[in-house]
Amino acid sequence: QYFERRRRRIALSQSQASEIESRPIELRSDEILNGIVGVIGNTPLVRIPSLSDALGVEILAKAEYLNPGGSVKDRVAVRMIDDAERQGLLHPRTGSRIFEGTSGSTGISLAMVARARGYDATIITPDDMAAEKLHALRSLGADVEQVRPASIVDKKQNIARQRALDFSSASSPSLLSASEDSIAVLTDSAARGFFADQFENKSNYDAHFDGTGPELWRQTNRNVKAFVSGAGTGGTIAGVGRFLKSMEQDIIICLADPQGSGLYNKVKHGVMFDQREKEGTKRRHQVDTVVEGIGINRLTQNIELALPLIDDAVRVTDTEAVAMARYLVKHDGLFVGSSSACNLVACVRLVKKMGWRGGERVVTVLCDSGARHYSKVRNDDYLRAEEIPIDLSLIEEMLSSK
Ligand code: PMP
Repeated sequence: QYFERRRRRIALSQSQASEIESRPIELRSDEILNGIVGVIGNTPLVRIPSLSDALGVEILAKAEYLNPGGSVKDRVAVRMIDDAERQGLLHPRTGSRIFEGTSGSTGISLAMVARARGYDATIITPDDMAAEKLHALRSLGADVEQVRPASIVDKKQNIARQRALDFSSASSPSLLSASEDSIAVLTDSAARGFFADQFENKSNYDAHFDGTGPELWRQTNRNVKAFVSGAGTGGTIAGVGRFLKSMEQDIIICLADPQGSGLYNKVKHGVMFDQREKEGTKRRHQVDTVVEGIGINRLTQNIELALPLIDDAVRVTDTEAVAMARYLVKHDGLFVGSSSACNLVACVRLVKKMGWRGGERVVTVLCDSGARHYSKVRNDDYLRAEEIPIDLSLIEEMLSSK
């Protein structure tokens, strides 16, 4: 009776019903994604109106921060786990555990995908990591071990590798193989420790060669003048760069390098450290200032894959990245992290340097959201203490310069 009354109350009139039925809805096959992992990738390509209009060049960005785990690293996490499963290094729901040392988004993506696929995760993080990332890791069910920052990136004392080894030997008395360089430890028990090792793991590159690159080639209808990206592990710039170059050799691959990183020098002068420069010396690890996630001072497997592809490099200061992050919110409502801002500064610089203004298409990546950056780039007190001004006129000058 209740339902009958309710049905009558909400019933549409004849004319309403026929109007709705006549609306064209394109029926396709089911559009259901399998679990949260199914949502990863196929991100939108977004035109940045303020920059594009001012430059007369189309500045387009892959909105990777719309991935379910909030960053470009979702692609890498799922690919590393998929590949490990394919190689028989990981078996779901057998007590296996994924280990990674990371200060960035990779831990969050790995924690998420690990849960979805039936693994545990241990993420080793620097003890000065932003609180919002720590909360995200713990909320996603990862075990977190905090260590001194230098031990995360130092290959020799890589704690995550050691933990993976220890885990595997503890879970199985007979260790089948545990070479220094193998990315996983084989044991005769199903419970395995897997060291994801995004810096050296080629699955990282493959995620971008097979995913991000082809997507943006399709989304631009095969019309790209340049691709601009920072490098943390180098996976993005190497994978996308290689794909684009194999489609069209003339596409310019440009590195966006934050201050303190050695990559700019490596690209421009063939060496990472220029003795005349003091800039990098106060950094404790990677690039330890405002711009997080990109910049590095050692060569990794994925950086090695990237270097031959890079045609040009632009150095971006912390001050410029901060200004761009704020500028994008003000003019475009775009709330992205510091590495995305750094990429966009480099896009503007490249366009100016090349003298483009005929609607050329320059593509970059919005790696993560501003919500991951409340402690630094979005924190006025922190910026004041670091003596980094918030000066949006820097971007206006950059855009209007000759
Ligand atoms: N932006 C952010 C926020 C990141 O965490 C990373 C990864 N360290 C990157 C950019 C760089 O990507 P890649 O590792 O592919 O070079």
